[in-house]
Amino acid sequence: MANSMETHLNALDTSKSAITVGLVGGGIGGVVTAIALGRIGYTVHLFEQAAKFSEIGAGVALGPNSVEALHLLSNALDTPILGNYERVATMEEKNGLWFHFTKWDTQETIAEVTGKGRQSTVHRARLLESLLPLLPKTVTTHFASRITKVENLPSNKVLIHTSPPHQPHPDYPTGTTLEVDVCIGCDGVKSAVRGSMGLGGVVRYTGTYAYRGLLPMDKAVQRTGETARVSRMWLGPHKHVLTFPIEQGNILNLVAFVSDHSKPADERTWEGQWVVPVGKDEMKKDFQGWDKDVLEYLDLVEKPERWALHELVPLETWTKGRVTLLGDSAHASLPHNGAGAGQATEDAYILASLLRLPECTNETIEKFLQAYERVRLPRAAKQQVWALRSGEVYDLESPMGDDWKKVGENLNERYRWIWEHDLEKDLQEAMEWLKTEGVLH
Ligand SMILES: Cc1cc2nc3c(=O)[nH]c(=O)nc-3n(C[C@H](O)[C@H](O)[C@H](O)COP(=O)(O)OP(=O)(O)OC[C@H]3O[C@@H](n4cnc5c(N)ncnc54)[C@H](O)[C@@H]3O)c2cc1C
Repeated sequence: MANSMETHLNALDTSKSAITVGLVGGGIGGVVTAIALGRIGYTVHLFEQAAKFSEIGAGVALGPNSVEALHLLSNALDTPILGNYERVATMEEKNGLWFHFTKWDTQETIAEVTGKGRQSTVHRARLLESLLPLLPKTVTTHFASRITKVENLPSNKVLIHTSPPHQPHPDYPTGTTLEVDVCIGCDGVKSAVRGSMGLGGVVRYTGTYAYRGLLPMDKAVQRTGETARVSRMWLGPHKHVLTFPIEQGNILNLVAFVSDHSKPADERTWEGQWVVPVGKDEMKKDFQGWDKDVLEYLDLVEKPERWALHELVPLETWTKGRVTLLGDSAHASLPHNGAGAGQATEDAYILASLLRLPECTNETIEKFLQAYERVRLPRAAKQQVWALRSGEVYDLESPMGDDWKKVGENLNERYRWIWEHDLEKDLQEAMEWLKTEGVLH
């Protein structure tokens, strides 16, 4: 796969350095994209509203498609993104087990879902730490810089407004605005880039909240036995719980979901903060009567939080002029396919591969942003809707209800289209379109 990629893409291209890219948001999507575009040779300004790069203390699963995107990026850019990831991740090498699914109260097996390719899980902070050393010198980071607005200017520039002022830079001494050639909003579900560009975007409460937390694996094993080391998901009425190991198997990551879908999707509202610390009793009350292992884990969780889960209704377009979106700002979804961060890595791969082509110049770059959107938007939007449906299957709210045989069969096939996707084919498709537009020959 990597070879065909390399035939399309030249070695590092220094002619790109005259093009400045403003990247808004230093989460997983923004950092991977900054590494990629910086390695290609673009002059990148990365704005992050926080005082430093940081990720929450929780785990994240990266499926085979996400690992493949990291692999392709590593090969194309000759930088060890995948190698660094593998050093901090817990990789399921043998049978690629994703989850062992059981009934909520009996531990009776419903399905053991395995995927062709490599399932993997990681502590979010470790993932970010593994990436940061790969940021090249072409990337200037501006911390404590919250972007309030971006505008396409008639001069073919994009004006980025920050508040408070970004760190003064020799080329941009005013410290409140920065003119760039292209802007990519990687600023998450509440994206200011998306908002100020008028790209639409209804962000709504999904009717689901989730308790999240970490617990020490040795204590989990003491209480429930070696089975704690397996990635597991319990499915029950309007609720489901998942656990998977991170930190080389030393920590267990837990997420316990509770849904109320009694109101139609557009009438569900959440009052107050999206993320709050929560007591163990509250969690246990929600899961009264559930399998004893679930209750043991809830008892062991350290510093649990409750997250009100919001989603972005699929957008019709991500791109306006010289501004586009990437990651959650473009396609935030419920986490039920374990695929949001993975979609961001796929975005980064396709965008970087297109922007790396020699034909991508300051004059043609808008077409390349459109080509990126053309292949990425339909897949990401499908994932957004699919995540909702996956939640219904887990919570026994789908038309299959608690027909466990059907649910098991469904789970066995549910994720194949996400995991076994051919990103190289998407890239080819985008390039074919660029040919029809007369930009590639
Ligand atoms: C409970 C839960 C479980 C999940 N599990 C998984 C999983 O197992 N696998 C998976 O692939 N995905 C999972 N996801 C989804 C995944 O977390 C997200 O898709 C992913 O983190 C999105 O990354 P991002 O970089 O696009 O956005 P974010 O992580 O939201 O990063 C956005 C960054 O932009 C910064 N920012 C925001 N606004 C501004 C501004 N105006 N100016 C400057 N900076 C700004 C923020 O500070 C932040 O650093 C889960 C999500 C949840 C809620």
